[in-house]
Amino acid sequence: MATKILLENIEAPGLATFDCYRKLGGYASVEKALKSLSPDSITQEVLKSGLRGRGGAGFPTGMKWNFIDKKSDKPHYFICNFDESEPGTFKDRHIGQLNPHQLIEGMILGSYALGARSAYIYIRGELFYVLNIIEKAIDEAYQKGFLGENIMGSGYSLDLYCQPGGGAYICGEETALIESLEGKRGNPRIKPPFPALVGLYNCPTVVNNVETIANLPWIINHGADAYAALGTLKSKGTKLISACGHINKPGIYEIELGLPVEEFIYSDEYCGGIRNGNQLKAVVAGGSSVPILPAELILKTAKGEPRLLSYESLEEGGFQTGTMLGSGGFIVMDHTACIVKNLLTFARFYHHESCGQCSPCREGTGWMEKILRRIEAGKGSMKEIDLLADIAKHIDGTTICPLGDAAAWPVSSAIRHFRSEFEEHIIQQKCPFTK
Ligand code: SF4
Repeated sequence: MATKILLENIEAPGLATFDCYRKLGGYASVEKALKSLSPDSITQEVLKSGLRGRGGAGFPTGMKWNFIDKKSDKPHYFICNFDESEPGTFKDRHIGQLNPHQLIEGMILGSYALGARSAYIYIRGELFYVLNIIEKAIDEAYQKGFLGENIMGSGYSLDLYCQPGGGAYICGEETALIESLEGKRGNPRIKPPFPALVGLYNCPTVVNNVETIANLPWIINHGADAYAALGTLKSKGTKLISACGHINKPGIYEIELGLPVEEFIYSDEYCGGIRNGNQLKAVVAGGSSVPILPAELILKTAKGEPRLLSYESLEEGGFQTGTMLGSGGFIVMDHTACIVKNLLTFARFYHHESCGQCSPCREGTGWMEKILRRIEAGKGSMKEIDLLADIAKHIDGTTICPLGDAAAWPVSSAIRHFRSEFEEHIIQQKCPFTK
């Protein structure tokens, strides 16, 4: 039985209440940390565990914490990025809704390690029902003495606030999130400086994803070595994968990193195979912003090795034949799916969510959507396929924040792997998948 860190007790009735969570061993890591561990030793433990950010970028969490300006006499802030809005990704809300105290416990550990006296959970505006659950859990944690002044007589004090966003996807970019939290329009900042030096209210700040933070209690309870023993060389621990699309069992699964993709798709423990016994056509493995791969490349790398659900295996082959683990939003398409139509949905999303600060993204996302709309309707031309690829190429790497890349990568990869499908729309002057 695979180790579960995030979903271990997820089906326990009443887990969202303090009493149930505490009975199951909750807040033990806070007791341990405040009684016997220094803030620095917690950072070292997280570094040693190999935990990487679960929001999409996969940056080592302990390293990010180490960048914080410890000498600064300004307040330090710890922020939870709960702005989950990437199409295909729906794992963080599961933690917030069913196990909010594990997130709060992780927030206390991270705040203590970083020397923060105030911390924030910035939650996507549309997740109001989750916000209510988390606020109730925060109130309980205050009442039981795990938040507020002098937690458990340790001398350490922490206030935790939950702040809803206005519903903009771009506020999931950490600097846009900080701007929004400050009460401004959520426009990403130019980096450097990075938030570790100049973050919330120009003070040293760390922003981590919900799933990342929810891992912290387990790491402190069981030790970095136990965490690092799970997974692969560069992908330690477990990962939540939100699986959707043409599979028999859509849902949220916690896998040990390194699980073969084939097993994940076809075994009854996870997705249970393709619906109606259909043929697998393509997978978007890490949320809508990562390159799409055809069946043969998601099941095996170009070298013929089994593709694994790990950072390094999914990246094998670069963007020519590989993709990314991203946020773990796993979208499966069978042979009846129209790649162009799916791509148009993604393009419309990124155009709508572009903040408009930089020209390649502001103009390019709209331009790509227009062309895709024409091709999908059978009204495009062959030249426009190359134009589309060219626009994507000129957005990639030329923008202030990664939304530009996120909009460009699905387009480039879809043309790379499914060009004939674009051509078929043009030749038949209609979508070949529409009867
Ligand atoms: Fe805004 Fe797009 Fe530029 Fe990001 S890449 S700053 S979303 S215009």
